[in-house]
Amino acid sequence: MDLPSTNFDGALRARAARVIPGGMWGHQNAPRLPAGYPQYFSRAEGCRTWDADGRDYIDFICGWGPMILGYNDVDVEAAAAKQRALGDAMNGPSERLVELAELMVETVSHADWAMFSKNGTDATTACLTIARAGTGRRKILVARGAYHGAIPWCSPSVAGVTEEDRAHLVYYDYNDVRSLEAAVEQCKGDLAAILVSAFKHDLGKSHELPTVAFAQSARALADTADAALIVDDVRAGFRLDMGGSWEVVGVRPDLAAWSKAIANGHALAAVTGNDRFRDGATRIFTTGSFWTAAVSMASSIATIRKLQSVDGVAHMRAMGQRFRDGLEAQAAKHGVPLRQSGPVQMPVLLFDNDADRRLGDVFCLEALARGVYLHPSHTLFLSAAHREADIDQALMVTDEALAAVARL
Ligand SMILES: *Cc1c(COP(=O)(O)O)cnc(C)c1O
Repeated sequence: MDLPSTNFDGALRARAARVIPGGMWGHQNAPRLPAGYPQYFSRAEGCRTWDADGRDYIDFICGWGPMILGYNDVDVEAAAAKQRALGDAMNGPSERLVELAELMVETVSHADWAMFSKNGTDATTACLTIARAGTGRRKILVARGAYHGAIPWCSPSVAGVTEEDRAHLVYYDYNDVRSLEAAVEQCKGDLAAILVSAFKHDLGKSHELPTVAFAQSARALADTADAALIVDDVRAGFRLDMGGSWEVVGVRPDLAAWSKAIANGHALAAVTGNDRFRDGATRIFTTGSFWTAAVSMASSIATIRKLQSVDGVAHMRAMGQRFRDGLEAQAAKHGVPLRQSGPVQMPVLLFDNDADRRLGDVFCLEALARGVYLHPSHTLFLSAAHREADIDQALMVTDEALAAVARL
């Protein structure tokens, strides 16, 4: 890779420091990454991204999940352009709303209806509100350490958050049936919902699919208490199974939250639900200025149809397996304690005995310098745009990055 000598990224950061609190907020704040990661990007195409200084990367973060078919996908962008010429945010929804709701109901196995918003946080929050409206109860079970969004009831930070914001949340440990039972017991008579992540994908932790025993217990406990089972499918949606991520364990939720990949990078979120919660969903008041905008809905319809026609899930799984197998062989060859976990299409790459993330940071920075964008502690994402040649090129880079880790 030709290393450009410009420093547009540094110049933008200096300007941002004056007019943006902390220079950047939230998880995309580059100082949260090892020093050397770019903050600003200039373009993206397929499975590649270009930073503000023109360096290109094979991207394994995929815009933190939204990119599933490839950046700038021709079919999705054609559908978006066609709708944009007609209208986007209008006085009410377009025909695309009904088409997309029909498509979600047809595609998602538990769904009898769908509603739309913009961000994953909108969708997870609406699920809680619908569960409370539908049951007339207050308590929500949440897994310790799970991420469900960035407002006071669920933010990973407690800055600006009051105890009251989280007054009716009760915590359990993911994949631990006994802790779930104990939490349900604590809520006797007041349980509105059990909220579960599609799989355990906590930051910096090994990722775990739900066990069948855990998923079945969650379903049975919710049923016995007449409460809702909610799957937060915001991160995993359409990467594990088009019918919803808990299809892999054969358990259907009452409500599910979706966003990230459902419109291939266009801003859209969804709640899907069954008939049991149709009345609760009818009674709550929920809305947003841009929630019925038609371009993102046209994009979502095109995204879902294309994922179905190319069998995106199977492709992502095959590419993820190729990446995992290659990395495993390289780690063994270099004698490096790389720990891969999670579904192959949404892995996390950690190292044993690396609490200070020394190994992980060096691995990621060495890969970055050679044109592969990874993350030392967050879920990675494969996409339908990653081809065998991209995986093999990325593996040539990780071979050198793991060799550098071995030299530490
Ligand atoms: C990203 C994410 C959210 C929040 O989605 P936003 O669009 O950032 O509001 C909620 N749940 C999970 C599992 C996520 O990964």
